[in-house]
Amino acid sequence: MNRYDFERARKLYPGKKRNLEQEWANFEKKYRRSLDKICPLLTPAIEAQIAYRATTKDWCPPWKHFATWINGGWWTEEIPQTKKPKPNRCVICDNTDVTHSTDGKGWCCWRLDCKEAFARM
Ligand SMILES: [Zn+2]
Repeated sequence: MNRYDFERARKLYPGKKRNLEQEWANFEKKYRRSLDKICPLLTPAIEAQIAYRATTKDWCPPWKHFATWINGGWWTEEIPQTKKPKPNRCVICDNTDVTHSTDGKGWCCWRLDCKEAFARM
């Protein structure tokens, strides 16, 4: 399972990389004791980076070589965008001064028009 997760991450990774045998050997040697912990984290970390780079207007450094990314433990890198939680917004008027939510519907604010529209949704 670990190797499968690792290979999924390796394939997804947009930077330069060697074949699975080489990358896995490097990874396994370095993180032998924490493979179970790390392997499931790799793909989500790469996906988050890809998504962030696709949407941000900030400058991003080029992708490192995969082995460099692995050796530096870069799957723990924080995505600048996710540091701030997204504010909850009223699904009707888009304001952030929401007061209540319903599962599946989202958030609604205190405005009467919104409350009524929300109730009819
Ligand atoms: Zn509203």
